Amino acid sequence: MDINISDDLLKQHLIDPELCIRCDTCESACPSNAITHDIRNYVVDADACNGCLECISGCPTGAIDNWRTVHRGAAYTVAEQLGWDHLPPAMGVAEKTRQGIPASAATPMENAYTREAPLRAIVVENRRLTAETSASDIRHIVLEAADDFAWLEGQSIGVLPPGLDAAGHRHMMRLYSVASPRGGDSGIKNRLALTVKRVLEDHEGKPHRGLCSNHICDLQPGAVAEITGPHGRNFLMPDDPSTTLLMICTGTGIAPMRAMLAQRLQRLHTISGRQILFYGARTPEEMPYHAELLALPRGFAETEFAFSRVDGQPKRYVQDALRDHTALVTNCLSDENCYIYLCGLKGMEAGVLAAFEEICRNSGIDWHELAGKLKHNGRLHVETY
Ligand SMILES: Cc1cc2nc3c(=O)[nH]c(=O)nc-3n(C[C@H](O)[C@H](O)[C@H](O)COP(=O)(O)OP(=O)(O)OC[C@H]3O[C@@H](n4cnc5c(N)ncnc54)[C@H](O)[C@@H]3O)c2cc1C
Repeated sequence: MDINISDDLLKQHLIDPELCIRCDTCESACPSNAITHDIRNYVVDADACNGCLECISGCPTGAIDNWRTVHRGAAYTVAEQLGWDHLPPAMGVAEKTRQGIPASAATPMENAYTREAPLRAIVVENRRLTAETSASDIRHIVLEAADDFAWLEGQSIGVLPPGLDAAGHRHMMRLYSVASPRGGDSGIKNRLALTVKRVLEDHEGKPHRGLCSNHICDLQPGAVAEITGPHGRNFLMPDDPSTTLLMICTGTGIAPMRAMLAQRLQRLHTISGRQILFYGARTPEEMPYHAELLALPRGFAETEFAFSRVDGQPKRYVQDALRDHTALVTNCLSDENCYIYLCGLKGMEAGVLAAFEEICRNSGIDWHELAGKLKHNGRLHVETY
């Protein structure tokens, strides 16, 4: 993006402190070290930012995608931004980029409800998806929003845990991918499903009772949750029915894929593209929606499951499944009409990208060059947490 409007005017890149969940994705993606943070805010240094937009595609809330026209010399300083609770008002219509979004994707509504003005939603269902005998408690939670709430597949909502943090502020929202298509879960408007794992240990395996996931998993039908959003525009699906979706996920990463599959299922007779799903879990009993996926109409989706802890069978991860289907994956990577989605725990991302790199190397394709093009053209979407 050309941030130089004229000799006098600059398009200044800013991060919305109300929406930012401090996940650090933008700072690690910025090639010019323009993004920095303190314990309160992530901010952009106007002197260092060149408008390359490399930071945009990873942001799960859209907090990163904010621009203000300012006089050169009067740009907001880093120190000023670090003190902000809100962005300064925009003159005219606030600009958003469509960087990394499929050309045929619908325009999403974003951030209609915020931490300061959340929406109430009633829990209508709370059902365990994983076997009772499993240590992994993953739940299908259905919420009915108390007011109009319009999301697109691939967007998330924020859930606000009750109570205050140590500094006396409301807790930061946690994001959860919507697992229902835009028309509503089971076709009921304003009704949306989440796929939530109860966090009982940290990523190192030490005991840790996750604040928000336990709050949600304990909500019984009739209880009220406070939600924000819808958030994000970087995991949107193409609406063009001739496009192919290659979906790769583990565990709760199935949530946005469930929404996309349901959306395509509703338009079954107009779809000429393919739905290809590579999905990993420890066992079939710990795989959310395993039975639901097996019950999809024959020929609608090509599903490949990978299980890593089935007694008597070798461990097979989702990246192993990709390697077992080299020709299919190579075709998907090369096909301009194929859009690739990757969602799940952070740990799986490196394995899947390494599998892509290996598959490309064996076919004489430069993965790093291709990955840049895929992201730029809205064909590669990664949402890991
Ligand atoms: C775009 C996006 C979409 C998401 N979608 C989903 C979803 O569909 N379903 C879902 O269950 N979660 C999802 N998450 C993760 C979710 O936002 C929370 O981070 C998670 O529920 C933990 O929050 P908590 O308050 O329970 O834990 P906290 O009290 O905030 O503790 C977080 C700590 O728990 C540990 N941890 C262990 N397992 C996890 C885990 N699965 N996720 C995050 N941290 C973990 C980490 O060490 C982390 O530091 C998503 C995150 C993002 C950014």
